[in-house]
Amino acid sequence: MEDVKIIIGKNAGFCYGVSRAVEGAHEALKENKNLYCLGEIVHNKEVIKELEDKGLITVQDINKIQNKTLIRAHGIAKEAYQYLEDHNISIIDFTCPKVLHIHKIASDYGKLGYYIILLGSKKHPENIGTISYCSSNSSILENLEEVKEKIGELNKSNIKKLLVISQTTFSINAFKEIKEYIRANLKKDIELVIKNTICNATDVRQQETKSLSTSVELMIIIGGKNSSNTRKLYDIAKYNTATIWIENESELDLEILNNLKTIGIMAGASTPMKSIDDVVEKIKTKKFTLKNKYDTI
Ligand code: SF4
Repeated sequence: MEDVKIIIGKNAGFCYGVSRAVEGAHEALKENKNLYCLGEIVHNKEVIKELEDKGLITVQDINKIQNKTLIRAHGIAKEAYQYLEDHNISIIDFTCPKVLHIHKIASDYGKLGYYIILLGSKKHPENIGTISYCSSNSSILENLEEVKEKIGELNKSNIKKLLVISQTTFSINAFKEIKEYIRANLKKDIELVIKNTICNATDVRQQETKSLSTSVELMIIIGGKNSSNTRKLYDIAKYNTATIWIENESELDLEILNNLKTIGIMAGASTPMKSIDDVVEKIKTKKFTLKNKYDTI
């Protein structure tokens, strides 16, 4: 009989920043009832539900906040801090230190007169926060096409200095490609500073996803459908092997596991270990058909 091998990525699941925010929220809810959180504390419905059962109130609109507020790992914009202060709303700030570091870079270089390109999603809350720390001369650009257009514009403008930074969960490969394009195409008299602000946790997880997906027949990516870092893992894995993206074990169709011998599992930064364990337990209930025999992993 042959075994089915399940390989779980070593870096699957909560990163440092998310873990700090979620654990911090559990602690804070022991002392404070009805704590607010602007946006989902983590892109995971089960984690949110557990916290909401303890009194966390998630709101999308800052005007709905009426009490002490948690700031999640993505951080918030300068204007949002100001709003909370103006309304005498106290905060417990769990902005990830790595995001705070990007805010500082943006702020420092903005004051020095640099035009700032922030690579990432225009709608992502982390970038909405970061762009508020840049000077007014800044843009969020999502891909190489947008970068090409912007570099064309900047080459014709009178800017003297350009800083390029990125969302913490930006794709490493896209970042490298864009970096090379800018180096080759930006007018030589514009001073260029490129800072790779992709979070190491993201980098490590993406690299592991890449290597794991080249050695298994199926990759299962676990994480919220609105989690951008999970989407990147899915995109990386599907390039190399058959890949499915599920939020939790209930979405896993065991039929697709027929005749497989190797399965890789990776999970986004907002996926708790419990979700990974639940998926593994469900896989273990499957009777695998291998060489016309039935085997159980
Ligand atoms: S991915 Fe990195 S930057 Fe983002 S919260 Fe996690 S540790 Fe912080």
